[in-house]
Amino acid sequence: MVKRIALAQLTSCWGCDQALVDLHLKLLEVLPQLEIVYWPAVVDFKLKDLESMPDGSIHIGLVEGSCRTKEDLHLLKVMRKKAKILVAWGSCSCYGGVQGLGNQWELKELLERKFLEADTVEDGRIPEEEMPGFTESIVPNTEIVKFDVPLPGCPPTSENTLEALSALLTGKPFDLPTKTVCDECPKERKEKNITKFYRAHEGKIDPDKCLLDQGYLCLGFATIGMCGAQCPTVNTPCKGCFGPPPGIKDHGAKIISALGAVADMDPEELEKAFPDPIGSFYFTDYGASYLSKIRDKEREEK
Ligand code: SF4
Ligand code: SF4
Ligand code: SF4
Repeated sequence: MVKRIALAQLTSCWGCDQALVDLHLKLLEVLPQLEIVYWPAVVDFKLKDLESMPDGSIHIGLVEGSCRTKEDLHLLKVMRKKAKILVAWGSCSCYGGVQGLGNQWELKELLERKFLEADTVEDGRIPEEEMPGFTESIVPNTEIVKFDVPLPGCPPTSENTLEALSALLTGKPFDLPTKTVCDECPKERKEKNITKFYRAHEGKIDPDKCLLDQGYLCLGFATIGMCGAQCPTVNTPCKGCFGPPPGIKDHGAKIISALGAVADMDPEELEKAFPDPIGSFYFTDYGASYLSKIRDKEREEK
């Protein structure tokens, strides 16, 4: 039986879509089993087309991006009503994504920075006409509506999405693995005792040895292993873009606590090594962190 599928984009870079179309001919493995009923990134569907479908009439709905606008919030809720199985597609959808880092500031500050103060702005103004309105902060979609399947990654690899779709089409569960990026990484690891951290462009990397052992902030130890360790394999430290393995509630807190155990450094040295700790430890999931929630609560109480 052909299954009806909808792919919706909230605020995002649309990279998850890009990863899907990167499957090229492999897409043919699943396309004949799918009837695409909504995918504005590729076909000219309108929101009203989706709104007019009966509730529960879509078999699989994929939601990419997070809710930065009120229109995003509306689309997310419509997708939840229309889809039987809803997939949080990508780290934006699962955890808020890179744009969640904006939660460190108030909405007013973000708008002023972007439209009035950025170096490239001349005669700036904050747009108000024809705007859908912004949300006060980025809250992970999974905390706004119930999702059936989380599929993290920034983006999920093409194979991740194909694997999830193939499982869902055949009625099988799609469970996240419990392994980490380190479990997939071919580099040799030793007992850790880090006395100095390097930026990615500093020093000379030994390609056979663990990057973290060499003082590069590689977050593979606290990141779910679904990407085949694609960054460390080419000597680029893992930034943790797939988020934590199941069971870890706060990715950055886990990273900080693990690093505290292996970094033999003074607080001042650590502060110097990580001038942007939130960006370093919560690349795609600050919106899901305890720190962000505390800030949201303070905002509500004001
Ligand atoms: S998860 Fe990453 S690739 Fe996907 S839309 Fe968000 S920012 Fe883009
Ligand atoms: S290089 Fe990174 S991913 Fe590989 S073993 Fe070391 S910490 Fe883990
Ligand atoms: S190695 Fe890390 S940063 Fe690179 S894709 Fe995998 S999870 Fe993301």
